[in-house]
Parts: sequence; C-alpha cells; structure tokens
Amino acid sequence: MILPIAQVAVDNATIHFDRLYSYRIPQPLDGKVWPGSMVLVPFGRGDKPRMAVVLAVDSCEGEDVPRGLKTLHDATPEQARLTPDLLELVRFLKERTFCTWFEAVRAVIPYGAQYRAAMVDGHPVMQSRLTRSTERVYTLAGELPPKPKPGPRQQAAVEALRQGPLTARQLDEVGISKSTLDTLCQKGVLMVAEQDKALDLFAGIPFDPQPLTLAPEQQRAYDALLPDLEDRSPHAALLHGVTGSGKTIVFLKLIERTLELGRKALVLVPEISLTPQMIRRLKSTFGSRLAVQHSALNNTERLLQWRMIQQGNADIVVGTRSAVFAPLRDIGLIIIDEEQEHTYQSESAPRYDAHDVAKKRAAMENALLVFASATPLTETYHAAESGKYKLLALTQRYGGRPLPRVDFVDMRAELTAGNPREVSNRLVQELRRNLENGEQSILLLNRRGYHTVGMCATCGHVLKCPNCSVPLVYHKPQQALMCHHCGHTVHPLPTLCPECGGKIAYSGFGTQRVEEELAELLPGARILRMDQDSTSQKNAHEKMLAQFARQEYDILLGTQMVAKGLDFEKVTLVGVLGIDSLLFGQGFRAYESVFSLVTQVIGRGGRAQLPGRALIQTAVPNHPVLQLAAAQDYEAFYREEIAFRKFGLYPPFCAFCVVGFVGEQEGAVFIAAQRFSVLLAQFAAKQPNIPLRILGPAPMGIAMLNGKYRYKLTLKCRNDASFRALLQQTLDAYAQEKLPQKASVILDFHSDGDL
Ligand code: ADP
Ligand code: ZN
Repeated sequence: MILPIAQVAVDNATIHFDRLYSYRIPQPLDGKVWPGSMVLVPFGRGDKPRMAVVLAVDSCEGEDVPRGLKTLHDATPEQARLTPDLLELVRFLKERTFCTWFEAVRAVIPYGAQYRAAMVDGHPVMQSRLTRSTERVYTLAGELPPKPKPGPRQQAAVEALRQGPLTARQLDEVGISKSTLDTLCQKGVLMVAEQDKALDLFAGIPFDPQPLTLAPEQQRAYDALLPDLEDRSPHAALLHGVTGSGKTIVFLKLIERTLELGRKALVLVPEISLTPQMIRRLKSTFGSRLAVQHSALNNTERLLQWRMIQQGNADIVVGTRSAVFAPLRDIGLIIIDEEQEHTYQSESAPRYDAHDVAKKRAAMENALLVFASATPLTETYHAAESGKYKLLALTQRYGGRPLPRVDFVDMRAELTAGNPREVSNRLVQELRRNLENGEQSILLLNRRGYHTVGMCATCGHVLKCPNCSVPLVYHKPQQALMCHHCGHTVHPLPTLCPECGGKIAYSGFGTQRVEEELAELLPGARILRMDQDSTSQKNAHEKMLAQFARQEYDILLGTQMVAKGLDFEKVTLVGVLGIDSLLFGQGFRAYESVFSLVTQVIGRGGRAQLPGRALIQTAVPNHPVLQLAAAQDYEAFYREEIAFRKFGLYPPFCAFCVVGFVGEQEGAVFIAAQRFSVLLAQFAAKQPNIPLRILGPAPMGIAMLNGKYRYKLTLKCRNDASFRALLQQTLDAYAQEKLPQKASVILDFHSDGDL
C-alpha cells in the first residue's frame, strides 16, 4: 500500500530550529494536499495543534512508513494554497534572509488570507481568519408560479433581478428582505451564490486618459527600454532622472506598452503617502483594472484586493514594499520608484530587500525591472555604471524648467544676531513673500514631537525611556513624554530631575514646536503639519495631500514623508530644518541619506510654471554633502561616495551582514555574541577562500530596546551560497552551545551597520 506523506514546516519555529517534519495525509484529504498548502498538525509531546506549511508531498510504501508517524488534522482548500510562484518566493526568502519558513509564508500572503486553528466538535480544524469578505448574490432562475399568489415583495424582487444579478445588500436597499429571498430560492425562482464583496477603492477617480507625448529626452529613455520590455527575457535598468524630469510619464508609457503586450505591471512606491498620487495617475490613464497593496488598507480591503489580483482581475498593482509579493501572473514590467528609500528594506523578519525580491521575480517572469530615482543608491548606480543594469538619464526638468535656486542660512550667525527660534528670519521673509504671492511652501523637519530632549539643568541627567536607551520626546497635545520606539508614555510632564531634584529643561525642536513658531510668526498662514502623529487615522495622508493640492493650506510642514515624490504646481519655496544631526548620524549610509533627503525635498519646488527656490538652515553651511545637495549634483556626490566606500570597504565592494544578539541580561548577550564570533572564525579558518572580516561584538546604536540588551557583530563578506552555508553552519553550532543564557539571533543583510 502506498501512503501519501507531507513534509511540513511549522509555525513558531526559531531560526536555529526550523526543520521539516513528516506527517501522513489522512484518506479524506488524499489528493487535496499540495506543496504550498497550509495544514494543521499535531505537534510536540502534547500533540498540540499547530499551523504548518507543506513543502513537499511524497508517497511511501506502507512498510517503509516510520512507526509513530503522526497524521495531519486538516488542510486549506485548494484556492487558499500558495501558488508555485509564491512558494518559490518563500524558498527565496528563507534562503536569503535566514528567516523561518513560516515567517516567509506570512510575508507573502496577507493576514486576511491566512488561516487559524480552531476546535469544532472536539476536532482541530482550520478556519479562515476573515469570514465577512464575501456576500450573497442572487440571480433569476425561473418564473414565479401563479399559485399561491405571490406577494408584492416577491414580485418586486423578481422585477429587480430581471436586469441582472444583485447582491443581498443592493436588494435590501430597495426593501427586499432576506426572508423573501430565501422563500424565492426554495421555490427555485432564484439562485444564490457567494462571491467576493465588490469594492472599488478608487471610485472617485475619473477614467480620463490624456494623450502622452514624451519630451525628446524621455522618448530616448523609453526607446532604449522598449526592446528589453518586448523580448521576454529578464532585464534591469536604472532610470536616473533629476527631480521633475518626468520619470512618471516614462513609467506610464512603459505600462501602456506592457498592457498592449498582454502582460501585467507592478509599481512599487516607498511609502503610503505616495500611493494616492500614483493611483490617481494610473487610474485616470488606465481605468479600473488596478489593485493596491499597502498596510493602510484594512484586512478585508487588503484581502479583496489580493484576491482580485490572484484571480487575474488586475493588470496593474501599486503598493509599498510588501506589494512585491502580489500574486500577479505574467508580469512584464516591475518599477521601483524612489528606489533609494530605506523603506524597501524590511526591518522585521523576514528582513528582505524589495530590490532583491523584484530581481528574483523579474527573472522568474522574464520581466523588465526599472529602478528609478533622482538620487539612486550608491550600489544601484555602481551596478548601472558597470553595465549590470542599463543606465538611462533624464538630465533636464520637463519643459526646460530650471532646478530650484538654493541658499544657506547660517544658524550660528542667526543665534549671534539674537534670534533664538528654530525658524530663521530669512525663512520667515521668504515664507511671507510666498503668502503674499499666493504660492505654497514645503518645510522639512525630520523629527516629530515638540521638544526632543528633557535634561536636568543641575546634574545633566537626560530623561530616557526605561525600556530603551533613547531620550523621551515631549508631545504637547498629550502633555506627555513618549518613547518613539516602544511607545512608553510619562504623564504628567516631569518638571524635576528624578536623580537630584533639579529643574528639568526641555530643548530640541520637533514638528509640533515649529508649527507653533510659524503660527506666531506668520499669523493667518494656513499650516498643515504632516508626521506620524497627525496621519495615524485611515486615509489621513490622502486627505491632507488633497487639501494641500486644493490650496487649502499655504505651508506643508512635515517629516521625510513630505520630501519625495510629491508634485504640486504652486510650490515655489522649500525649507530644510534641523538636518545637521543626520549628517553626524551613525552607519555608512549617513551621507548618502542626507544627500538624498535634501536633494529630494529641494526638488519639490518649481515643478510647473513658477520657478522654485530653497533654503537650507544649518550650522555647517560649508559641509561638502550639503553643498553637493544644494547644487543637486548627483554625479559629483556619487564620485565622492564611491571613493569612500572603496577605501573603507563598504558595499558595493563587499556585502555587509549584521548579526544581532538580543536578550535580557547584558553580560549574557555579550558572551553569546562573543561565542558566535569564535565559532564563525573557527569554521571560516577551514575555508580560507571565503572572504570574511568579523567586527565586534559591540553594542548596537540603540543598546537597549523594549527592555532587551542588544549587541552586534558586523561581517564584511561576499554574500553568496558558500558564505550563507558557513553562516548556517555557525547558527547550527551556536544552537548546540551551552551558554549561561541564550540570546536570540537576528541576521540582517541590509542594515547600514546598525539594526
Ligand atoms: P519626477 O518623478 O521625475 O520628479 P514627474 O514625473 O512628477 O517628475 O514630472 C514632473 C512634472 O512634469 C509633472 O507635473 C508632470 O506632469 C510634468 N511632465 C513631465 N513630463 C511630461 C510630459 N511629457 N508631458 C506633460 N507633462 C509632463
Ligand atoms: Zn522605549
């Protein structure tokens, strides 16, 4: 007798203990379990039901079946399993990021499409997490019998359905109840079926395609990309275009051609605040076969959009990082807009980079992958320069418009001249000028809250979070101190030092404080503050940006969410505040991030008829990075940066892998990191052909987070299969170690040196 066996990976494993387990497939499920199916299995000593994913299905001769092999409880229906493509992405994540199988599964399917364990009549079963995502739809199946005489409601229902099927909700709106419908179904007059709830998230955006005429430079870029789009083999390109050069128009043209070829397009943007604008452009150009995937959708919306994609009803998908896993088939084009943004790297397991997943998908689908930015990552530009990606440049703003003129305000001089505020006199003048001319301004300050530090004036003690080694930030609306990492809140506001009883002085300015200063300095100015605190409500980004576009506000003040991608014709002034602390930040990307942030925000101005200007407030106006950003000279910056990377041995000249150790006792965490380092060095010594440098252990930039101590090793390596095998060998050996207290291990290949 041949018995079917499933090889599964279970939920709640750890990276050092995530192996496959075998289970028998019971008779009723025979033929209904595939690789990619979710199953429920009895696990461990107590046989507790646990979720698992099937990675292989084998058959085994009856006598070869190991004794005591357990039988799985339940499996999801066929349409809920991971498609072979998604399963391949799961394998890719597991291999590349050292996550567990189940973490990878969770990354590729949205919560709403997942299942959970439940007990029904004493049996463990799987239930879908969301049940209210479908609705009943009624169709006319026959005529009303004359006897018994039908009531007026029944007649009304039949009349309404003569035009075509209607949902229970639509019928209810015209006064036809469920009981009437049930009766008609019993009589065979109506048929009922369950279907996904219809949901048009963008019903308000009209389909209004405008003819797309490319400027000569745009046309050249498009022409160069076209053969790579059409030849059905994988390609990658970098579209490097200055701010306002019309990269989006080139995308639209490429998407148009992709759809003509009968294929599909995936468009990634770095954050939710940029989705509405992209959706608007795509929907008005291409109509309704558009789906979105991002975390601001509720679970039902997200699931419905996901199913729409899975069922082949979307031609274009737009979304943030996780949309790279959208179950779109026959992808011809993948675009990663503002590719330099760190939001493309996941900060929790699986710690993947959407760039890598997109490359993998482009290879699987024979698609063209386009990275786009005015300030590409140094690695991306290097790959393009060395011929790995095709490099296309847009050097001019559309319509021959000039780039904004940039000036510096020296904040040391400002202080000497007796202005204690964070908003300089010059900036106030310029803002006033814009108010008088009816033009709009954008101000960037990448710090939220009111005061960013509370310090004792007597002993210098800084008020820190008890769970995290970071200062607490004063938030005025709540009159409280808050930790931006763990959410710890202190209320009421401390006025005396807990150490010496001295007086606490609050300093450092965030967006709330600057908003208040602006209101005092510019009475009557309409100021819109956009940061994580003001955008926590659903669709807040979209509402705010629409209001600003309608010119209901004069000044948009915000964190990095106002810095990139936005295109408003009336914006002529950009102000950059509080940038200096970022210049002196940790990690090898600090300069690159500042250059990019400043260049991008400056680029928000002067994008239409009106010319733009920008002011950078700083205490170091001669700093080379600020000077280059002010000149908006990416090439010059890149030359400096690539030399620094080469000299210091940083990516792209090596791969950077941060191994983090997290635990409750500081000493134990340090010992664990040290032990890991020794094991790794021992294994590496046996394979001298694998290039490797081990730095540390050292405390992480935030040495304590959520009450746990954090140490790291930094590995400079070549991230290939043999290095990853070495790392896996070390992880396995570490798992066997007898240590005073085991620290959990985190691996990150995309960190800039700090987790
Ligand atoms: P980027 O993303 O490169 O910063 P956008 O794609 O937002 O630039 O384009 C900047 C502005 O110029 C937008 O308002 C856009 O509509 C306009 N624009 C660019 N190219 C064209 C074109 N070929 N035809 C009409 N308008 C264009
Ligand atoms: Zn905290």
